[in-house]
Amino acid sequence: MAFDRKAYNREYAKRPGVAERRRERQRERYRSGECDEWLGEYRSRPEVRVRRCRNQRRYRDRNPEKVRGAQRRYFLEHREKMNKSRAEAIARFPEKHKARGKLNKAVERGVVNKPGSCSRCGEEVESHRLHGHHADYSKPLDVEWLCSICHGAERRKDEAVA
Ligand SMILES: [Zn+2]
Repeated sequence: MAFDRKAYNREYAKRPGVAERRRERQRERYRSGECDEWLGEYRSRPEVRVRRCRNQRRYRDRNPEKVRGAQRRYFLEHREKMNKSRAEAIARFPEKHKARGKLNKAVERGVVNKPGSCSRCGEEVESHRLHGHHADYSKPLDVEWLCSICHGAERRKDEAVA
């Protein structure tokens, strides 16, 4: 019988330690940064971006305590940097900050009604995941309610134009 390389490789992969060694080598390559450039290109593909966004959301939904712990640790370790970059963002775009504040107040008071789904793709999302997109910050209550994916796409479009 002729040598069947595919069958041999399948059997070889089942030997003790082979899968672990492979995984370790993949991990080393990933950590070495040699794939960073390609990964950056790959992750910026629209279909990959949407898939990653959904997967990350699913992970956050399933592991809320892990995510909260990681966020808290990150904030405590980078407290000064975080406060500084927030202050810088507000100083750079004060009209954005004001518009968001006014909109949030209006939603709290029931002046503005937040819908239950994205006005662009129709996806039903939890209230805190629905973003009010400002086309014009001088009209703080005039927003389009978008899910995070549509909002991200909209922002990238704006940034490409600007
Ligand atoms: Zn959407």
